[in-house]
Amino acid sequence: MADTWAMNTATPDSTAAAAAGFRFDNTYARALEGFFVPWQAAQVPAPVLLKLNRELAAELGLDPVALDGPLGAAIFSGNQAPEGATPIAQAYAGHQFGGFSPQLGDGRALLLGELIDRHGRRRDIAFKGSGRTPFSRGGDGKAALGPVLREYLMGEAMHALGIPTTRALAVVASGEQVFRDTGALPGAVLTRVAASHLRVGTFQFFATRGSTEQLRMLADYTIARHDPELAGQPQPYLALLRAVTERQAALIARWMGVGFIHGVMNTDNMTLSGETIDYGPCAFMDAYDPGTVFSSIDSQGRYAYGNQPGIAQWNLARLAETLLPLLHEDADTAVAMATEVVGEFAAAYQQHWTAELGRKLGLAAESPDDAALANDWLDLLQSQRVDFTLAFRQLTAFARAGDGAALRALFADAAPLDAWLARWQARSAADPAARAEAMRLANPLYIPRNHLVEAALSAAVEQGDQAPFERLLSVLQRPFDARDGLGDYAVPAPPETMAGYRTFCGT
Ligand code: AMP
Ligand code: MG
Repeated sequence: MADTWAMNTATPDSTAAAAAGFRFDNTYARALEGFFVPWQAAQVPAPVLLKLNRELAAELGLDPVALDGPLGAAIFSGNQAPEGATPIAQAYAGHQFGGFSPQLGDGRALLLGELIDRHGRRRDIAFKGSGRTPFSRGGDGKAALGPVLREYLMGEAMHALGIPTTRALAVVASGEQVFRDTGALPGAVLTRVAASHLRVGTFQFFATRGSTEQLRMLADYTIARHDPELAGQPQPYLALLRAVTERQAALIARWMGVGFIHGVMNTDNMTLSGETIDYGPCAFMDAYDPGTVFSSIDSQGRYAYGNQPGIAQWNLARLAETLLPLLHEDADTAVAMATEVVGEFAAAYQQHWTAELGRKLGLAAESPDDAALANDWLDLLQSQRVDFTLAFRQLTAFARAGDGAALRALFADAAPLDAWLARWQARSAADPAARAEAMRLANPLYIPRNHLVEAALSAAVEQGDQAPFERLLSVLQRPFDARDGLGDYAVPAPPETMAGYRTFCGT
């Protein structure tokens, strides 16, 4: 593919950065020629390092001290390629809101390469907002500071909640403006760390435009990277589909358990690794309602909170279609094999979701009545529009201290709650203190509340005041530990102030 686009041949100075500790080992660029375009980041006029994730840098074997200054600004803006980087723009396709786009690709992203972290895990280091590439279509290849800080915050919040996710390593203000519908905005470059950037859409690109041989190379690469134990099996590609199905079932159950709404579950935004990726219009639900949608572009509610499991399965069916030629030479047999595995998603998801709800409700040993108990709880929250996060957290407080006042205060009509609590208490725990502590660790107190996120971002972007962002980040880094003086971080905005709240892709 490289020959179909003009190459950007600028050679950046790649000498001074050795001290930062980058030891790249770039298997994607080595093994998958034709799956990407070698490219360079655009130079930015006045890079300022706004954020370095020091803990993550150390985990990656990098030197946080060396990077926390002008060197970090130069490297994480794209102005100076770190030694050993082989920047590439990856090709991928994708179903966006159900319609297929045969060519998307990294239109404003670059994969610098891979590092092996302190735990021996291979991780991608990539830019977002680093300028135009051959995949940019009409876009400018840039990112605005607000959405970049949002991605940083959301990724760290998800990580602290224990949910698999890509994470932000750095944010650099570029010193240039980017132009969006709302006007001129300060530009920024995000550095993102991921288990890989293999997407359902990566497979779709090569299934529709490449050869079966390329598809096999991609599948073999994915297996080697994420599921090496499958390599010797009789049906490795079917086993890969099953492994991805299982990972996504587990991931979506975790999203649902914290009220996370991704907002744009297009197939190009779904990973093979099972990590959450591409924080655009995502948001956390306040009042429990499966129909909740925040994204301004999701007018049909396709990616509403309650639709996420079904959409994940739909996306997995698109992945399965791409694998058909690798599964069996007889097309009908291949379809039957793939259909069976994708069909397993429903039971796998149900199992993960039941376990998640069981943890959140303190129902450790399963009992036949649990499903009804859990469903009735959710019905109660929905009918009285109760805050999802607080309801579970106050149930936790009730489990610990037996005082239901704060829980009751969340409900307009406490009578059905009391009836439900009587049933819940009948499921008595052998060790109430242990149950309460287990519930605390399953039910966060602090989530990225929409009004807090907006306030932190507008202070940073409009006033250049990063303090609210830093404070919110530090609260979200310990979501389960109640701390004095943080009451404002634990409650939703008054409903009227956030009525009609909308999120944007920021593109
Ligand atoms: P996303 O909505 O971020 O998942 O992106 C969907 C597709 O649009 C991907 O191919 C992106 O690379 C591309 N894209 C998004 N924003 C821009 C931009 N500002 N410039 C170029 N391409 C973009
Ligand atoms: Mg995307």
